[in-house]
Amino acid sequence: MIQGKMFINGEWVSALSGAERKIINPFDSSVIAVVAEGGRKDSALAITAARQAFDSGEWSKTPASERGRMIFKLADLIERDREELARLESLDTGKTVEESRWDMDDIAGIFRYYAGLADKDGGEVIASPVQNSTSIVVREPVGVCGQISPWNYPLLQAAWKMAPALAAGNTIVMKPSEITPLTAIKVTELAEEVGFPKGVVNLVLGAGAEVGAELAESVDVDLISFTGGIATGKTIMRAAAGNVKKVALELGGKNPNIIFDDADFNVAVDYALNAVFFHAGQICSAGARLMVQDGIHDRFVEELRKRIEAIVVGNGFDKGTQMGPLISAEHLSKVEKYVEMAPSEGAKLLTGGKRPSDPALKDGFFFEPTLLTECTNEMKIVQEEVFGPVITVERFHTEEEVVRWANDTVYGLSAGFWTRDPDRIERVSKALRFGTVWINDFNVYFVQAPWGGYKQSGMGRELGHIGLEEYTEVKHIFRNHAPEPFNWFGTSS
Ligand code: NAD
Repeated sequence: MIQGKMFINGEWVSALSGAERKIINPFDSSVIAVVAEGGRKDSALAITAARQAFDSGEWSKTPASERGRMIFKLADLIERDREELARLESLDTGKTVEESRWDMDDIAGIFRYYAGLADKDGGEVIASPVQNSTSIVVREPVGVCGQISPWNYPLLQAAWKMAPALAAGNTIVMKPSEITPLTAIKVTELAEEVGFPKGVVNLVLGAGAEVGAELAESVDVDLISFTGGIATGKTIMRAAAGNVKKVALELGGKNPNIIFDDADFNVAVDYALNAVFFHAGQICSAGARLMVQDGIHDRFVEELRKRIEAIVVGNGFDKGTQMGPLISAEHLSKVEKYVEMAPSEGAKLLTGGKRPSDPALKDGFFFEPTLLTECTNEMKIVQEEVFGPVITVERFHTEEEVVRWANDTVYGLSAGFWTRDPDRIERVSKALRFGTVWINDFNVYFVQAPWGGYKQSGMGRELGHIGLEEYTEVKHIFRNHAPEPFNWFGTSS
């Protein structure tokens, strides 16, 4: 049985209250770990440690190239322990171990990217309009960063925050989702092995409304970066107002995947599946909202149904498995309710829609890959984030109407469309109001390009150069080389 503790000020500690939480394997409901269940006081201790470490200047004044070297080392250790990390991630989330391996490779790349950027920004000289002066703009670390991450990509989402924050010279308090803390614990062990100064990297474990709320509210936290649901994001924004801390939010999505008549049919069907059934649809950018032009609609839906029915659902550690379970009993019941409600709105259930009958899966949180057709954009099942293996199909006639419907959402994370027409590519990519638009592809993201949402899908950007800038303050330093009296208030005697 794995035992997990918190890491505060360079020490592995239990919760002050002694409380613990059992971590459940979504494949069969077995207990895989017991970890410390921290509360507000534990979180406050971690914040104090990060505050003292930042204020001491030891880390922020460490030469940027040396910070980069340590982050490169962390990437090496992640690569060294890739198999163990992937195994922990799959145990914790139920996703296939192959997907977890991709995540670990991605994560090592993220640390390397920001390690490389750490010493690249030497500031900028401004053409000062004042005679005999110099004017420069430099970027400095923000300070203590609270970093709250979700359960769907536990270590990947944490890495998007951890790597740029450390590269920029901040100190951090990480708070993974209380139901998937295992890889965050492991990566903190690796950070300890690298030897970051005491208090630079802290890890707290426990419920969002306790340890997370303390991070959002504390006046000693300078920046709160959050990935999770919209409702929690709004709570965090309000909590952060107390000391006007910087707020970065990566929230949910309901992402249209638009197939025009002239698309490459075979590739588009394949990606319609990839877009939503990877990780059982528990991806913020899942293409759960499929929109198909009427010329190919029926043929497309039929092909999709056939391929959906062939998806192999099972244990993420079995070789042939293509899709694992949902994260928890609670989440399974949420997805089930959405699908049960959809026919009352007019949607037609074409396949799936229930828990699988296979007795080998009875103790896990499984839901069949599900296809709903005859959907329209005002339906709840189309507008709200289901976050499960459920695809809705809307039939459309014209480019104008599909763009209007696709944009008719409070979300704005990502969208994709499929066409061979270059003029349409130009028009539609500009007309879609989403943070990322994919053309003839779906769900491609990499560390070099920024990621984030329009509208209620969030504020700020992660990844790319801008993902590092989010963790910096901008300072203008102006120096007068030949000061003289201004004499507005008369000359001095
Ligand atoms: P969630 O909002 O329930 O929880 C996310 C994190 O916030 C957890 O660590 C939780 O403990 C913490 N939390 C909960 N209440 C809190 C509070 N009051 N104060 C502080 N912290 C609190 O989200 P989830 O169910 O873990 O994740 C799924 C959501 O995340 C989906 O909506 C998904 O779209 C979104 N997501 C977005 C992105 C993105 O890049 N935009 C990436 C992954 C997931």
